[in-house]
Amino acid sequence: MKFEIDTLGIIHSPYKEKFAIPRQPGLVKSVRARLELLPPYDQPDVLRGIEQFSHLWLSFVFHQTMEQGWHPTVRPPRLGGNERVGVFATRSTFRPNPLGLSVVELHGVGRERGKLWLELGAVDLLDGTPIVDIKPYIPYADSLPDARGGFAPEAPTPPLAVSFSAEAEQQLARLASRHPELRQLVSEVLAQDPRPAYKKGKPDEKLYGVRLFDLNVRFQIQEPHCLVSAIDPA
Ligand code: SAM
Repeated sequence: MKFEIDTLGIIHSPYKEKFAIPRQPGLVKSVRARLELLPPYDQPDVLRGIEQFSHLWLSFVFHQTMEQGWHPTVRPPRLGGNERVGVFATRSTFRPNPLGLSVVELHGVGRERGKLWLELGAVDLLDGTPIVDIKPYIPYADSLPDARGGFAPEAPTPPLAVSFSAEAEQQLARLASRHPELRQLVSEVLAQDPRPAYKKGKPDEKLYGVRLFDLNVRFQIQEPHCLVSAIDPA
């Protein structure tokens, strides 16, 4: 059977590129995103009652990687990027049907000038991600404290301590009115060490850059430290 499914809404998030997006929701708590509903789903009736829930399940399409296809086995970063396991034993983006599933915080519903949206937190979603379903998270059914977590038994402890150069501090101060949560967001994102697995545990001179909002955040890593050197317009 083949199915056709419709995009219900689009994510607006500060994550403008795949690099440095947390690998699961909830790892970076300070990130905020908006899910804007598209016609014909942009009618308040579809959200009636949703504010009673603190969290939502979002089904979405890995739209940026879907053209790259899939392989029966993948190398999860959690196993150091060397060991292969079956695609269905992972949450890899490269799957036969490029569908993702994330539980996210619901902070409210917004409505203005004919637009309707959900205010979300703790997402792991790229800006522009198409959402294909929204469901409430129901603790009695969805929370399974005794479940076995396989090779990912618990959330990884963020490995890096993040600090800011004097220049980056000045840039944060200038940006404070537009992006009041920026320091927290940059700290949480970079503390996860976004580099590919093969870079970890070795000396690294590289100056990295990541796009958050309309900004280019530049940083260097000497484990266990990460120094943010500058935050410039992208
Ligand atoms: N929580 C979801 C799941 O389990 O299905 C996603 C897990 S996947 C490992 C998370 C990664 O997907 C993020 O780190 C980011 O690199 C990538 N990602 C997020 N949105 C994407 C999109 N629209 N297209 C392609 N990749 C995306």
